[in-house]
Amino acid sequence: MSKKGEGSLSWLRDRNRRRVLDVLRIRGHTSQADIARATGLSRTTIHTLISELKDAGMVLEVDGRPASTGSGRPAVQLVLQKTSRAVLGIDFGHSHVQVAVADLAHNVLAERHRDLDVNHRAKEALDFSAEMAAEVLGEVGIDRSRVIGAGIGIPGPVDRERGTAGSATILPGWVGVRIADAMQERLGLPVDIENDANLGALAELTWGAGRDCTNFAYIKAATGIGAGLVIDGALLRGATGTAGEIGHTTLDERGALCYCGNRGCLETVASGPAITRLVAEGNGEAPSLAEVIERASAGDVRCRRAISDAGREIGVAVAGLCNLINPERVIIGGLLSSAGNILLQPLRESIRRHAVQAAAERVDVRAASFVERAELLGALALALRGQRAHEALS
Ligand SMILES: [Zn+2]
Repeated sequence: MSKKGEGSLSWLRDRNRRRVLDVLRIRGHTSQADIARATGLSRTTIHTLISELKDAGMVLEVDGRPASTGSGRPAVQLVLQKTSRAVLGIDFGHSHVQVAVADLAHNVLAERHRDLDVNHRAKEALDFSAEMAAEVLGEVGIDRSRVIGAGIGIPGPVDRERGTAGSATILPGWVGVRIADAMQERLGLPVDIENDANLGALAELTWGAGRDCTNFAYIKAATGIGAGLVIDGALLRGATGTAGEIGHTTLDERGALCYCGNRGCLETVASGPAITRLVAEGNGEAPSLAEVIERASAGDVRCRRAISDAGREIGVAVAGLCNLINPERVIIGGLLSSAGNILLQPLRESIRRHAVQAAAERVDVRAASFVERAELLGALALALRGQRAHEALS
């Protein structure tokens, strides 16, 4: 059924204006050409709308950066005028909590980090994050009524329908906790939750190595291995939100038993703990993954071998992914990505060996732009992309 005025000139104009504002809200700095491409509207229409939005004080021109299409002269970039509205991002890692506040022009205004055993202490983590949110808002003088909503990340699968952690083995202290409800209550704000790999993908899509790309796979390789898949510019979540569990791809049916209950999963041979265990074999106490990466970079042959073998194994699973979704780019993130080419080179070779030629020869494998802050930035991006942020600007 059509709404009153639907199809009229003013209705159309208003709808186009909202589409332009949506692109600026979701992408941050953007050129007129990119807005035209994203909305499918003509350059003349965009030009007129942008002029009106500038006159209304809603859009600003900022220093030109290279346009996403690349060649030559930097295009003039547009950004939403700094508004008094803001979003919160909250990242629960396995052993830390991070909180940040950003405005709708994509400026991160303040952030906090706190170490904590998140895996086993869910209630404390939830309480701390709410305190930290109050602290960052206080620091920048933003009243809670100006906050549109919060994006929240947890380091494991998310049951988005129930707002709970989807795996008892990954987050033992979070079983039965209704995270979304609990945070909504503590913050007094609408919240949206997502898993860490999906948030890493959103951070790369919005500000990092996936910004000029609409089809890519983001692989988070750290304590666990997960993928965030961006298809036609949007996250692929699957029927129950577990799309991208690449860490539990079976590589060897007779391999080691995985905590998920299967055997020979990718994580049993290429996750952070698998690498540090391997390095420790016959050498006493297991080093941390960061130490292994540091030693590998300094030339330690055992550490280099452990990381490059992990890269090769990850490449086998990623090759299967390339065959299925044919991404333009594979972005490797997580702590393991800081090993650079020690990890990436064997990973690329493995994709070439195992994926069909058409998918393998075109795929560009590169390191992510963000490591420590990927999930936190992704949580902000999640809140910026939400329906409530759309409504706040309309
Ligand atoms: Zn498994």
